[in-house]
Amino acid sequence: MNDLTLIPNSGAILPAPRLNRHFINGAWQDSSDNTLSDRNAPSHGNLVSQSAKGTAADAEAAVAAARAAFDDGRWSQLSGKARAAVLLKIADLIEANVERFAVIETLESGKPITQARGEIEGAADLWRYAAALARSLHGESHNSLGADILAVVLKEPIGVVSIITPWNFPFWILSQKLPFALAAGCTCVVKPSEMTPSTTVMLAELLVEAGLPAGVVNIVLGYGNPVGATLTSHRHVDMVTFTGSTAVGKLIARTASDSLKKVALELGGKNPQVIFPDADLESAADAVTFGVYFNVGQCCNSGSRIIVHEDIAQEFVAQVEALSRRVAFGDPMDPATQVGAIVTPEHGAKINAAVQAARDAGAQVVMGGAPLALKGLGAQFYQPTIVTGVTPDMAIARDEVFGPVLTVLTFRTLEEAIALTNDADYGLSAGIWSENIHTCLAFARAAKAGTVWTNTWMDGFPEVTFGGMKQSGQGREIGRYGLEEFLEVKSLVMRVGRTRAPWVKAS
Ligand code: NAD
Repeated sequence: MNDLTLIPNSGAILPAPRLNRHFINGAWQDSSDNTLSDRNAPSHGNLVSQSAKGTAADAEAAVAAARAAFDDGRWSQLSGKARAAVLLKIADLIEANVERFAVIETLESGKPITQARGEIEGAADLWRYAAALARSLHGESHNSLGADILAVVLKEPIGVVSIITPWNFPFWILSQKLPFALAAGCTCVVKPSEMTPSTTVMLAELLVEAGLPAGVVNIVLGYGNPVGATLTSHRHVDMVTFTGSTAVGKLIARTASDSLKKVALELGGKNPQVIFPDADLESAADAVTFGVYFNVGQCCNSGSRIIVHEDIAQEFVAQVEALSRRVAFGDPMDPATQVGAIVTPEHGAKINAAVQAARDAGAQVVMGGAPLALKGLGAQFYQPTIVTGVTPDMAIARDEVFGPVLTVLTFRTLEEAIALTNDADYGLSAGIWSENIHTCLAFARAAKAGTVWTNTWMDGFPEVTFGGMKQSGQGREIGRYGLEEFLEVKSLVMRVGRTRAPWVKAS
């Protein structure tokens, strides 16, 4: 452990705690029962924020505000140009506030400050892209149905959307959903994770400054129960878009089915990277290292499973191990840090238990496998960990660990690599490393995953849609498809002239 790259407490000055309140119909509100919940920094232990702890009544008030705002057309009936103008202003305001947002995001989530800055800046670009889409909304026309018929297919905003987000990329994931829903003309009720609510609340301040009409975006803080449950069951909600765990996603789908509201789900993953001997192994090793430790592995896209060719497995794992020692783990407030803290002590214990279970099942923990002590910081850190000798039936090969833990499987043929890739309940993303285009294409076509990266990992763009197959989710975010999720389709059939033959026979 001593030869790891560790960053102790940097002594950064930590801001005073924030007080977060609900934002309903353009007004800041306490919870109806006046309760609060605290969030302490996973890295430093200091109190970062206190937030109103929502009740079912608070959630209902927010849904009522969003419903009224949608039904009176104060947003949905604006032109795409007018909606785009507001979204662009919001993007500018986000960019002007990157540092303020990044500090709070870092302290609430435990992610490194440089990464948080990148996510806030990147989120501004998502708002800008969604603004462009707001001006390109259109359906289709049917002008060849006969001289006396013209039909058009209209795209309409779906209505009131509940947006429920997780703690691992609080502002980024919010920005994968909210600007697209707004571009479509929807109104929204947002529930951020109880662990990372602040940047969502700070965004509301910017929405006001940008001139978004009251009631179009409402924010209710609090827990899955009762806030999330109310937002997913309420009959005045038309759609739920959720990012989080597969278990809660299934619960939401079940709850929402009572009223048959639309549900979009972005869930977990156990994402493989396949490495062939002819690959650029230096780049592959670097991408594997990045893929597994980014956000301490608390990432739906974590490249937590590598499937490496038997002939190079030993040498490749040694290369990844050497790189792992050079990755800077430590104080997320230090700009040199690349990997920060685990979100909660309970989650840290779960990561450790998964590694111990792999050991018990006969796998070898060749690196790490224990919590990480860092000078002047709390106990919520975990060592970079590599587990080899894994067989496909082991839990470590199949379950999302959501920590800095790399699982190594081996293969001999392309067919075997594809079979191992697809032998999973999840299907979020997959990667292939080879200099042979035929190998890459054959793999990319066969992999059951929403995104396949060839000779890269986790590159993303607002234009390129994202989502999961199998138990990684349903529906898509960002890109054009991300906008389509928030649109309802209506066919309009029009007769030209008085040419309709009567159905009732003339008497
Ligand atoms: P989580 O499912 O515990 O919580 C997510 C959100 O759901 C939180 O806001 C939580 O308060 C809320 N919630 C909890 N119970 C609810 C209920 N009964 N009804 C409605 N809402 C409820 O997930 P998490 O621990 O915050 O995030 C980690 C998970 O998210 C991982 O599984 C990860 O893979 C997944 N994730 C997926 C993507 C993706 O794009 N596919 C992205 C990031 C994270």
